[in-house]
Amino acid sequence: MQLDPHWQSLIDYDQRHIWHPYSASPNPTAPIGVTATQGSRLTLANGWQVVDGMSSWWAAIHGYNHPTIMQAMKNQIDTMPHIMFGGLTHEPAIELAKRLIALTPDGLEKVFFADSGSVAMEVAIKIALQYWISQGKTQKTQMLSIRQGYHGDTFATMAVCDPINGMHHLFNEVLRPSLFAPAPQMGFGIDGDNQDIAELEKILQQHHPQIAALTLEPIVQGAGGMRFYRPAYLKAARELCTQYNVLMIADEIATGFGRTGKLFACEWAKITPDIMTLGKALTGGNLTLAAVLCTDQISDTLCLGKPGVLMHGPTFMANPLACATAIASIDLLLASPWQTHIADIEQHLLTELMPLQALDGVAEVRVLGAIGVVELEKTDLGPKIQAAALEAGAWVRPFGKLIYTMPAFNIPAGELHQLTNAIKVAIQSSLCA
Ligand SMILES: *Cc1c(COP(=O)(O)O)cnc(C)c1O
Repeated sequence: MQLDPHWQSLIDYDQRHIWHPYSASPNPTAPIGVTATQGSRLTLANGWQVVDGMSSWWAAIHGYNHPTIMQAMKNQIDTMPHIMFGGLTHEPAIELAKRLIALTPDGLEKVFFADSGSVAMEVAIKIALQYWISQGKTQKTQMLSIRQGYHGDTFATMAVCDPINGMHHLFNEVLRPSLFAPAPQMGFGIDGDNQDIAELEKILQQHHPQIAALTLEPIVQGAGGMRFYRPAYLKAARELCTQYNVLMIADEIATGFGRTGKLFACEWAKITPDIMTLGKALTGGNLTLAAVLCTDQISDTLCLGKPGVLMHGPTFMANPLACATAIASIDLLLASPWQTHIADIEQHLLTELMPLQALDGVAEVRVLGAIGVVELEKTDLGPKIQAAALEAGAWVRPFGKLIYTMPAFNIPAGELHQLTNAIKVAIQSSLCA
C-alpha cells in the first residue's frame, strides 16, 4: 500500500505500540489506515475508496455517518454527554429501555445497560447465578453452552465459548469448567434428525441440578464458525430449559436488530429467553453500548434473596450519549423498510455467492438474511483474500476458513454489486494461484 510519509510514520508507530484485536506487538501486519467513512464507503489512508462489507462487525447497520444519528448525537453532546447512573437517571436511558422492552420478545421487562457485549454476557451470567443463590440452590453454579459458540473475551464468557476453536483454549486451566452440548446440525432450512436435540436433553437430564443456565446464540453462531441452525432446535432448547429448570440466556449481540431477517433471531422460534443480551448494532455502530434484558420473574426472585440487589454497576453505565444514539438508530431502523432491504440483500447474496460453491477449495456457501458466508477448505488464504478484495474495491475481514460479509441494510445496489464482485474475484484469484 502506497502511503505518504505522514501516514507511513503513523502506521509504523501503530505497528510498534498498539494492540489490535487478536494481534501481536510489535505487529508484523500493517493495519490499514482509514481517514473517513460515509454511508457504505471507507476512505483509506492511500486515498482509495472502498465498499464496506463488515459493518464494523455487525454493528453499522445504517452505514456510517447517517445524518439522523449524527444529529441526535450532536444534540445529546450539547446537553449531557455523560452522567453517573448511580442514584441518578435520565431520559435517554428511560426512552431506550422503553423501546427495548417493547421490541424484544414478550416477557422481557427489565433492562441492565452495560458497556460492551462481553460485559453484557458477564452480567447475564451473574444474573443467572445470583438467581439460584437467592433461592438457596447453591449447587446450581455450572453453565451449559453449545459447541461452536462465541460469547466474548472476558473470563466468564471465555468459559462458555467453544472450548476448542473458541480462541480461548489457552486458558482452559484457569477458566471455570462449563458443560458443552454438541453444536446444532448446520442448516437453517433443514429438517434435522434431532440427534442434536437429544444430545442436549441428555446433558440436561444428567446435570440439571448443577446447571444455572444454558447460553446460546439464537439461529446464527457468529465468531465461533458463522453457522446457521434451524428454529426447531432453538424452540426445543427453550422447552428443555423450562422442563429441567435451567435458565436460558439468548445472546443476540450479533443477531439483534434485524440482521437475520427478524428483528431478533428468537422470533424465528417464537420464544422468550429468560435473559437476553444485546450489543453491536444497538447504537447503529456509532458507540459502544450493550444491554441485558430479563423477565420480572428472574429479577423478583433475585432481589428476594440477600443482599437483595443485583451485584453489578459499571462506571459508564447507561452513558446518555450512547443511549441517545441507540434511540436514534432504533427509530431509524423501524421507520425504514428494513425487511425489504434485508430480503433484497439476501437474494443478491444468494445469486452472486452461491455459484462459488462449484469452485475447488470452497467447502460451502451459506446465506441468511443480510449475512453471506463462503467457507473454504483451507484456513490460510484469509490475508491474501483480504488484500485481493481491497484491490477490487471492498473491505472484508476473513477469519480462518471463513470469508463473510454483513453489509449495512441500506447499502446502495451498486455498492452491493461491487462488494460481492470483489469477494468473488478475490476468492477465485486466491484459490487458483
Ligand atoms: C461480539 C459478540 C460478543 C462480544 O461483544 P464485545 O462487544 O466484542 O465484547 C458476544 N457475543 C456475541 C454473539 C458476539 O457476536
